[in-house]
This record gives sequence, structure tokens and C-alpha cells, in this order.
Amino acid sequence: MANPQVPVAAVCPLGDSPVQVVCPSCHQAVLTKVDHTSGLLTYLLCGGLFFCGFVLGCCLIPFCVDRLRDARHSCPTCKTVLGVYKRL
Ligand SMILES: [Zn+2]
Repeated sequence: MANPQVPVAAVCPLGDSPVQVVCPSCHQAVLTKVDHTSGLLTYLLCGGLFFCGFVLGCCLIPFCVDRLRDARHSCPTCKTVLGVYKRL
């Protein structure tokens, strides 16, 4: 039996939204799970700055940095990290 034509992870451009790829580890067609690695840190940083200094300017800094956060794609089935999209 020949495999049906399926996309390969290596040739799929990764963005900040989930993409359909064939996982090289478990060989299943999956929709990647996207984690924004600095997402939680961003809110903690914002909250910390807000309560400590109450300075609106500084409080907004994490959201500027948030636009630069990375999107990490992983397989929802076997948790293998398939690639990381970096905003630069
Ligand atoms: Zn997998």
C-alpha cells in the first residue's frame, strides 16, 4: 500500500498558528499544538510591574515584548517539538 500524499513537516512554513503536518516521530497527520513560550511570563511581568510601580508606561513594556514572542509547534500526540517560529 502506498502512502497517500501528505505534507511533510520540513517543507511547511511555520507561523504563529497551527499547521497540518505529518509528525516525523509518530508518523501521523496532526494539527500542531502552538505554545507561545513567553505568554505566561508576559502577564506575570505586567502584573508585577503594575502592583510594584503603578507606572503605566512600564506596565505596557511586556506587551511590546509580547509581539516578539516565539511560537513553538509540537505534536499533540507524542509531544515532539516540530519547530519554533521566531518573530524577528
Ligand atoms: Zn507525533
